[in-house]
Amino acid sequence: MIYLDNNATTRVHSEVAKAMSPFLSDEYGNPSTGYDLGRRSNKAVADARNQVAEFLNSDPEEIVFTSCGTESDNTAIFSAITAMPEKRHIVTTSIEHSAVIAFAKAVLPGLEITELPVNEEGIISLEDLKAAIRPDTALVTIMWANNETGVCQPIQEASLITRESGALFHTDAVNAAGKIPIDVSSSSIDFLSISGHKFHAPKGIGALYVRNGAPYKPLLIGGNQEDGKRAGTEAVAQIVALGKASELATERLNDQGQEKLSYLRDALEQSLMNNIKGTHRNGSSRFRLPNTSHLSFDNVDAGDLLILANDKGLCIASGSACSTGTRDPSRIMKAMGHTDERALSSVRLSVSSMNTKQEIEESSQIIISCVEKIRSLRSDGPVIFSS
Ligand code: PLP
Repeated sequence: MIYLDNNATTRVHSEVAKAMSPFLSDEYGNPSTGYDLGRRSNKAVADARNQVAEFLNSDPEEIVFTSCGTESDNTAIFSAITAMPEKRHIVTTSIEHSAVIAFAKAVLPGLEITELPVNEEGIISLEDLKAAIRPDTALVTIMWANNETGVCQPIQEASLITRESGALFHTDAVNAAGKIPIDVSSSSIDFLSISGHKFHAPKGIGALYVRNGAPYKPLLIGGNQEDGKRAGTEAVAQIVALGKASELATERLNDQGQEKLSYLRDALEQSLMNNIKGTHRNGSSRFRLPNTSHLSFDNVDAGDLLILANDKGLCIASGSACSTGTRDPSRIMKAMGHTDERALSSVRLSVSSMNTKQEIEESSQIIISCVEKIRSLRSDGPVIFSS
């Protein structure tokens, strides 16, 4: 099998699995207890907090462990709105993950939401942002990198504009973390979400960066864990895993990690563009994650391509993982102004540092042959593949 769907999730790194494994067996102490077994768990959580803080260049006490990226996003929005009840407006974008947009719409009644549009490249306008912020704006929440297209937003500039206007700034960095460097200390970010399973930790662990001094109200209320910022007995094994994955990601990024990813991504993209007529790249080629290629193939249903590629042992995505299973055109592609046809013919190819050059060459051959097959069958009339 060749796995090119690393924006959906990633394989757990062997060193991460090794680091967490004692906490799934002998080291089962509750970190809040006072005997040695519990103290060792407590220290493991503290060490992991240091590793995540180094990864984001924050202070350790600015890191709150959560159960996933969704919880981190929900918490940031809930916190900003609850800490400043007099402010009932938030600014976001038309391409956010549902963990941001659906939460804001469903759970916070009476909230006014302004969604910034994106251009054909998938990027917001800073002028639009300036115009959208009002005196009653509690929060601006803009994703760092889109999970589907990989397109990156001007987060430094957007966070600065927001800070100057007096609102709080959150970024969903779930799909950016581990692929590009993140340095919260050199930005005006108040809240930043990450999720371990996107960079070789297991599913079920995330973190929220909360800037020292930012107004904060917890979403989960109960015990005093996480310094009162997130109740619930710590998931020690998962937290240790997130720490180790953060350490490994820091090392990779310091060792030309971005260049290694873009080398693989570009080799694949170039091969497909050179060998398949009617291939279009979607979104900015300049401002995007180094691991992601989002392509449309004329006269190809991406759902069919997915099924045929799967039969040949290749995992790729059409739309984001959360919307796979429906044949609706991607709302991200629609927000970028693309037609239904182009959206329905688009695939996401996302590599990780675990992919090899050989896998990229094989993947390219598989996709080329699948596209040829779909097109040849299509020329004989409509064709529907079933999974
Ligand atoms: N935000 C983005 C950009 C994502 O890609 C995802 C997951 O696909 C999430 C949030 C949700 O993260 P999690 O799966 O950890 O809840």
